[in-house]
Order: sequence, then structure tokens, then C-alpha cells
Amino acid sequence: MTVLRGIPVSAGFAMSRAFIFNEIESPIIPHYAVSAEEAPAQWRRFEEAIEARAALLQTQLNALSPDSEKTQFDILTVHLLMLNDPDFIDQVKDRLFNQQQNIEWAVWEVAQAMTKKLQECENPMLRERAVDITDMGNSLIKRLLSIAEISLADLTEDAIIVTRDLLPSEAMAMNRACVKGVVMAAGSYTSHSAILARAFGIPAVAGLSGDLKAIKPDDLISVDGVSGEVVVNPSKPKQTNIRRAMEEHLSKRRELLTLRDQKAQTKDGREIILKANIQIPEEIEAALDYGADGVGLFRSEFLFLTPGEPVEEAQQTAIYTKLVKAARNTSVTIRTCDVGGDKVLPNFYPREDKNPLLGWRAIRFSLAVPEVFKAQLRAILRASAHGSLRLMFPMISVESELDTALRFVEECKDELRAAGTAFNEQIAVGTMIEVPSAALIAGRLARKCAFFSIGTNDLMQYAFAIDRGNERVSHLADPRHPAFLSLIKMTCDAAERAGIPASVCGEAGGDPNLTPLLLGLGVTELSMNASQIPEVKKMIRSLKYTDCVKRVNEILSA
Ligand code: PEP
Ligand code: MG
Repeated sequence: MTVLRGIPVSAGFAMSRAFIFNEIESPIIPHYAVSAEEAPAQWRRFEEAIEARAALLQTQLNALSPDSEKTQFDILTVHLLMLNDPDFIDQVKDRLFNQQQNIEWAVWEVAQAMTKKLQECENPMLRERAVDITDMGNSLIKRLLSIAEISLADLTEDAIIVTRDLLPSEAMAMNRACVKGVVMAAGSYTSHSAILARAFGIPAVAGLSGDLKAIKPDDLISVDGVSGEVVVNPSKPKQTNIRRAMEEHLSKRRELLTLRDQKAQTKDGREIILKANIQIPEEIEAALDYGADGVGLFRSEFLFLTPGEPVEEAQQTAIYTKLVKAARNTSVTIRTCDVGGDKVLPNFYPREDKNPLLGWRAIRFSLAVPEVFKAQLRAILRASAHGSLRLMFPMISVESELDTALRFVEECKDELRAAGTAFNEQIAVGTMIEVPSAALIAGRLARKCAFFSIGTNDLMQYAFAIDRGNERVSHLADPRHPAFLSLIKMTCDAAERAGIPASVCGEAGGDPNLTPLLLGLGVTELSMNASQIPEVKKMIRSLKYTDCVKRVNEILSA
């Protein structure tokens, strides 16, 4: 039994078999004796792996354009030649059939021996080939271990995903019925992979850099998304403890659900609106069941990141209309597409940014592709005829961006009016405050907006200059830091002066430990992963608003 510790990012417990996804630099290679009966089947697996690898290399070679670098061509050609090298193949065969080594181990040993021989050569050209042998050996071993090139959509058995990181597109594609937990080397509480794990109710632990090598394919592992503990091959008594913790966690959640119909009101009568953040429209039912007073953040970009999902204007209209109708008279805030950073649209992101999080993201992207942006705006406006719907822009950093975005909204309204299409003329249009520059000019932005929603995940990332997906710097992300509290205070004060609501929709909004601070700073609405609503509500009901304000003033002047 091995106990690992990471950052708990999605509450809950799971115990299942490990499924190693994607590259973990050096996989653990199994080593055992193979019987004469088992050897032919392993040999067939080896031949299949060679064939598949050769086909992939050939496709890559064919895809090279005439002006691609010669080195690329050389490397692919050398790898292809090595795969068919009779000496390599004969040595592997000998180890499997005559030395009873399992196929993965045999490939590893032969590749190691050949690498060593090449490294000792006088000829520098041959010495350089050593790395190619290692590379080829590793790729074959990964294929034999089913580590690489597997889509999480194809999972058919329960598993805990063990991976360096999970792209939002991969998380969206995974077969959620089978994914019981997620364990990641990278990430933090606010990384999108963590947000999605919480949205799907999948227990997850992030930031286990380095330690994941202790987990081998098919190991029994447990994930404790509350404490951040991951246990590899838990002992029998430990398994009993984990099962007990699972049951206690579930019964605590059931108990909290009894607060569902109670008001989120402080002891001295200040009522706070609690809404849900959702990523896919289907989440709305569960959100309302948790007692959400509508949707405070619909991350619309996930529509575009879901494989096979429609994105055309008419289809978007249908999706938003269905969403607003499903909201049962509560309101829905649709955030326009926030792509970029780690949320990359597979077919719509023509160039690589050097610093994606500081690059062509969110509103910057939307304003640069007006046809795409306007199609979304018209779809949202059309849906606004069917219920209470608000529109919100992500990542506004300067006032002119807001001006341009608002101009597009007016253009779209004109177009719909001209076509005689119904929409809500009074639709509330707001902006996220998630870049420090926006907080600093919140007074000016407030005059042009119907509401603010503070995106604490990005606001923290940009205020402290910490990549929210990087586990090495995640310890610096402290929402209680005075610098950060000042930015929130500035935003809330500006909202109050302009008479507009200020909500928080970043992960801080769902952390009951931060609720007293946020209330004291002047936040009037909180939007969060729906499963956190009962706990935050319980906290609000235990507080006095006047105490929160007093405490925050003391903190800010300390
Ligand atoms: C945020 O930045 O706090 C936010 C809510 O947006 P996202 O997490 O989608 O970037
Ligand atoms: Mg954000």
C-alpha cells in the first residue's frame, strides 16, 4: 500500500482500478515470466503494435509538406526503419520465446541494450540515433500497455483516470458512466479539469506531480477528494475505512439537502442569491434540485468543445431556449464563448499562442471573429423571448472592448427587429470582472453594465501572475490575500455606487470558508457548482451581515 497526497479538487470518494491515460513520462513496465502457451499471444500483440506504430509513422510522413524540415522527415524515416529492423525483432523474439520474458519487458531490455551500444559508438551520427531507439522502444511499450492514443470516450469498465492533466475537451469526451475518479499530476482547484470534475460529481485529486509513477495500470486505487489522499493498493482495513468515509460523505450531503427550500438569509435578514455554474445544459435539473436560484454562469464554450455537438446559430438558439425554459422561472446567465487558454476549439483556433492565457482568449477572440460572435449573440437574444435570460462577456480588460461588444449587441438587436424576430428588448447585459485592470476601472464599466460577475479564478490568476493549471505555483493562489480582497472590494463598491448587483462566480463563491468575507465585501449573489449550494447556504444562515462587514473593514485596514 502506498499513500500519496495531492490537492483535493472535487469532493467525494472512489475506489476502482487505475486507468493510465496519456503520457506519464516513464511508464512502469511489468516484468514476469511467460509460459510457452502464453508466448504466441504476446507475440501477436507485439506484431500488432509494430504494425499500428508503422501505420501512424507512415501517415505522419505522408502529411509532411514539401517545405517541412528535413530533420522531421529523417526522424520519421529512421523510426520506420528501426521498427522493421530484423536484428531488433529477432532479439525480442528470443527473449520472449527462449528467455520467458513478457513482451513489454523484452522490448524494454532490447531497446536499452541497443541504446547503450549506440551511445558507446565513436561515430557521433550513430550516437545521436540512441535517443531514437529509446523513443521507439517507449512508444511500442506504451502501445503494448494501452497507455497512449486511447480516447476516454471508449472506456467500457469502471476506472479511476490517472493522468498528467486532462484537457477540457478530453474531460467533455470521457465516458462519465465509467469514470469513478480522476488523479492528476498537474492542476489546481481552479483549473478547468478540476471544475469539470466537480461539475460531473467525479471525485478528483490534482497536483500529484512526480508521484504518479507509483501507480501502475490496473492497480486498485482510492481517491479521497476531500483530503487529497490517493492510496495505491489499499490494505483490507484501509479499504474498510475508505468505504465508511464514502458512506459518511453521502449521508452528510443528504442531510445538507434538507436546507433546499430554506432561504439563504443571514441572521440579520440580508438575503443572498445563490445560483449555479453549469457547463452543459443537462446540469440544470440537478442544479435546481440543489436549491439553485437559477444559473449564474453558463459556460457556453463547452457547447463548442463537446465532440459532435452542434454550434450553428439555429442550433444554439434551440439549446439556449431549452435551457431558459428548463430554468423553471429562475434566470439564466449565458456567458459568451470563453475559448483560449486551455479551452481550445478543435477546429477553430488557427494559431498557437506563446502564452495562451495572456493571448487570444474569451472576448478578445469573439471580437476578432464577428460572424461567430454575432451568431451567438443573436441566438441568445432569440432565446431571451422565452424566459429570464442575461448575457455576459468574459475577460473584459479595457473599456473599449465592452463598448465594441455592446455595439455588436445593438447591431444584432437591429437585425432581429428588421426581421421581425422576438427578443427581450430589456435583456440585462453584464460583464465578468476577472482581469485586474477591469476591477481598477470598475466604476467606468459599471455605468455601461446591468451587473458584474467576479471571476475569482482568473482574477486570482492574473492578479498574482500564477497559471491556474500549474501545480507548482498553486500555493500562491490565496483568495484571502489583502491584494485580492481589495480588488473585490473595489468592484463591489463600484457596483453599489452604480446600483447594479455584484456576484461572484469563480470557485471562491462556492467555498463556505470564504462566504463571510465575500458577504462583508458587499457581494450580493454567489454562483457555484450546484452541489456546494447547501453548504454555503448553511454558512450564510449562521452569519450576521453586520459582523461580516465589521470584520472585513478591520482586515482591510490592518
Ligand atoms: C473565473 O475565471 O472565475 C470564471 C468563473 O471563469 P472560468 O473559470 O470559466 O475561467
Ligand atoms: Mg474566467
